[in-house]
Amino acid sequence: MSYVDEVLEIVQKKNADQPEFLQAVTEVLNSLRPCIDANEELYRKNAILERITEPDRQLMFRVPWVDDNGQVQVNRGFRVQFNNAIGPYKGGLRLHPSVNLGIIKFLGFEQIFKNSLTSLPIGGGKGGSDFDPKGKSDREIMAFCQSFMTELCKYIGADVDVPAGDIGTGAREIGYMFGQYKRIRGSFEGVLTGKGLTYGGSLVRTEATGYGLLYLTQELLKCHGESMEGKTVVVSGAGNVAIYAIQKAHQMGAKCVTCSDSTGWVYDPEGIDVELLKEVKEVKRARLTEYAAARPSAQYHEGRGVWSIKCDIALPCATQNELLLDDAKQLVANGCIAVCEGANMPTTLDATEYLQANGVYFVGGKAANAGGVATSALEMSQNSERLSWSFEEVDQKLQSIMVNIYHNIDDAAKRYGLEGDYVAGANIAGFEKVVEAMLAQGVC
Ligand code: NDP
Repeated sequence: MSYVDEVLEIVQKKNADQPEFLQAVTEVLNSLRPCIDANEELYRKNAILERITEPDRQLMFRVPWVDDNGQVQVNRGFRVQFNNAIGPYKGGLRLHPSVNLGIIKFLGFEQIFKNSLTSLPIGGGKGGSDFDPKGKSDREIMAFCQSFMTELCKYIGADVDVPAGDIGTGAREIGYMFGQYKRIRGSFEGVLTGKGLTYGGSLVRTEATGYGLLYLTQELLKCHGESMEGKTVVVSGAGNVAIYAIQKAHQMGAKCVTCSDSTGWVYDPEGIDVELLKEVKEVKRARLTEYAAARPSAQYHEGRGVWSIKCDIALPCATQNELLLDDAKQLVANGCIAVCEGANMPTTLDATEYLQANGVYFVGGKAANAGGVATSALEMSQNSERLSWSFEEVDQKLQSIMVNIYHNIDDAAKRYGLEGDYVAGANIAGFEKVVEAMLAQGVC
């Protein structure tokens, strides 16, 4: 049996109740086969795959807090510190009722390779809670965040583990968590990224994932003799990633005609009005029905459906497993030429394979949405030198990081005879650097 198959069997046995984690490990290891086969003896002797699929540690803790009725509520908190071979653990905190250990492990595992791809010194981790921020008052959010950080602060630090935002964790939540860390540990340090600009945050961090997605997509198109100019784009999601992806796509001359949230989606043939979307989602924290009510050209639909709209480019920016095989078929039938993932693992494996088999340029989230964590690492650099860089300086660095990522994944794929397979290219390029560091550091 090949080394990859042997380890996949072990991972499946040990994590049978964690489908998302198994999905991620299976996808990554399968795509690494040419690279692993070429180094099988060395990797096997050093148990590289067994080590890279087992987190350094996984923390699970109780998060008690008091709601506005005086009732004590209890949630479960998680932090998975997956691999710190190339730098302190780095990865977001997801607050969503669907969160469980398997989801956090899948995200932490993917984060190892994504962080490596940025070329910056950051390891892989992820965390969060099954807490649902929807419908909670500001005071309840603060009570939860303070309780969550009261426990988490024992395990993180500017040189140890630096969490950031993710679904449900935006600037407000990061602020409350930072305040609590500072209060308990008595230390003003860059322990979280995505901070507000008045207390150590970086310009461009808010926009970074969406902007970075478009910088990479533009480079991909350019290398295939195309451009964003005049393209019709469908986007899912209406959160941080989606909003700034739409904004940058419009700046590049494309037209985004859809967005979605967890209850429905909008088709706006005149192009999504980003300022209105920001008002509805970032200020009012309301549903997309409010967008449609304020915009005569927009049609609102319940449920899912953005992938049914004819487009040149599709950017899934909401959540995992939201672009299925039937959606991929529809995109291909409608003449879509590129799918680049703003979210983490939004496209199912069979949908990915269908898109690739039908000549659609497909770049997975590990590479395409790495702009967020890359800018987080730039925030860490600024905190370390106690300086703040200008918007233009950070944006310029983000652009060159995303262009580099595209060329690194393209080159890695070509080196193993997999030209055009950017999923394999991203996994290989990210993996090679981490493995080199693991081998150099001995058995740990
Ligand atoms: P937000 O919470 O800001 O937005 C998420 C959006 O997706 C919301 O519109 C939300 O709808 C929608 N959504 C969430 N869950 C579901 C679901 N089950 N079905 C349909 N829609 C859903 O998160 P972000 O924009 O920050 O993150 C989006 C994705 O990008 C995630 O996969 C995240 O891990 C990934 N990512 C984010 C980065 C960042 O810097 N923010 C960096 C790299 C990756 P609703 O408004 O109804 O909740």
